[in-house]
Amino acid sequence: MSFRSFSGACAVLAISSSLFSHPLQAEDILSEQIKSTALELKETALKAGLAYELDESLSTEVGARRVGTPGDKKGVDWAVAKMKALGFDKVWTEEVTHVMWERGEINAEVISPYPHKMTAIALGGSVGTPEGGIKAEVVEFENFAALQAAAPDSLTGKIAYVSYRMERKIDGSGYGPAVIARGQGAIEAAKRGAVAFIMRSVGTDNNRLGHTGGMKYEDGVPMIPAAALSNPDADILSNQIRRGKPVTFKLTQSSSRHDATVVKTANVIGEVTGRETPEDYVVLGSHLDSWDVGTGAVDDGIGVTITMAAGKHILDLPQRPKRSIRVVLFGAEEVGLIGVRQYLEKNQAEIGHHVIGAEWDFGVGRIYEMKPGVGPEALNAIREMAELFAPMGVSLSPDNDAKGQSDLSILGNAGMPAVNFSPDGSLYFDYHHTDNDTFDKVDPEAMKINTAIYTMFAYLAAESGVNFRK
Ligand code: ZN
Ligand code: ZN
Repeated sequence: MSFRSFSGACAVLAISSSLFSHPLQAEDILSEQIKSTALELKETALKAGLAYELDESLSTEVGARRVGTPGDKKGVDWAVAKMKALGFDKVWTEEVTHVMWERGEINAEVISPYPHKMTAIALGGSVGTPEGGIKAEVVEFENFAALQAAAPDSLTGKIAYVSYRMERKIDGSGYGPAVIARGQGAIEAAKRGAVAFIMRSVGTDNNRLGHTGGMKYEDGVPMIPAAALSNPDADILSNQIRRGKPVTFKLTQSSSRHDATVVKTANVIGEVTGRETPEDYVVLGSHLDSWDVGTGAVDDGIGVTITMAAGKHILDLPQRPKRSIRVVLFGAEEVGLIGVRQYLEKNQAEIGHHVIGAEWDFGVGRIYEMKPGVGPEALNAIREMAELFAPMGVSLSPDNDAKGQSDLSILGNAGMPAVNFSPDGSLYFDYHHTDNDTFDKVDPEAMKINTAIYTMFAYLAAESGVNFRK
């Protein structure tokens, strides 16, 4: 059922209820007192600019936080210390384990017909080349589907190259069609005999910077090196191939997998302990790890600091909300949502106590839409929340199928109700997973508004006692 048709039906029911004196709670699930406190929180968040301040601290004092690196450990220590300093009622870590990977060095070049040095970056988890590199002819595919359609053995001894360019879209929907090659390209290329896999970066910029990101191998399929070219370099390579002569490419990459070496990180959790049912909690999610390029100020420093600031503003109220609020900074997200999967394993029995969740892991712009994923009765409360967010430019999606973003999608699929807040993501993939993910890209005004929305949402959900599953 779409939300619009539901609210339309409610208006009719509200009229009939007055005719038949039938007590029907079509309006005002949220009391005036709760709404007025939420509006106070809005003013606090808009004035404070706390998330921006915290992100400056994280990106200056810690920087890149790839799982298994010293930066990641520093990030965990920073988050624990900062949450304690902000006055969270409880702060703790839950261990997360993953395996070691080293980026090493990369050298990529077109050898012939027109020699060019290329800017490229290893995909996360890729094996390296033999020491002297791999020199082979390049075969271009316009997208992942074209690579999949290539005949068995048709790439024997060749380098497979997917040149698909990601489209810029406000909601980031250009990412899915592009990122499939990053995840699966090396597998499909190797199945057809390729000795290496290269691709156009998954990004919307024209900088001479490669975009890294996770990739996969499949049991029984040879592990071949995988790298992404910057967009301008992908243009050069495609232009050469278009001339119809064989193009020889050389990739030398010293990245290495250490699948038997366990590295440890953590999910960091800060709690605002509820005054009536502390065992029930509203979850604000983000991920603390980042890639090893840039400083992770955007991905996901923005999410880490918006959710921490939201908790702090609620802690500063004269009394705690009825339910608890847990700000969860997940570890090892970039390498396959590892932290949240281990969180779910550990907290499986508690999933019923996760009353609702919202994550931030996308965009540098302002939130323009709120999409719920709740039970039909709870839609009334969601509509009242949306009315409070509307003056900040947020519309309510007609759909009610949100499962939570990034990490929280794992909890959403395990049964936790969720709200997805969508910010303007037009610029996000210019910086995503590159050296350009730095603090100057963070918009202080957007941070204030987005923090106000997350703060109000967490408070409204925790104080109202609404059952979002019904
Ligand atoms: Zn992210
Ligand atoms: Zn990321």
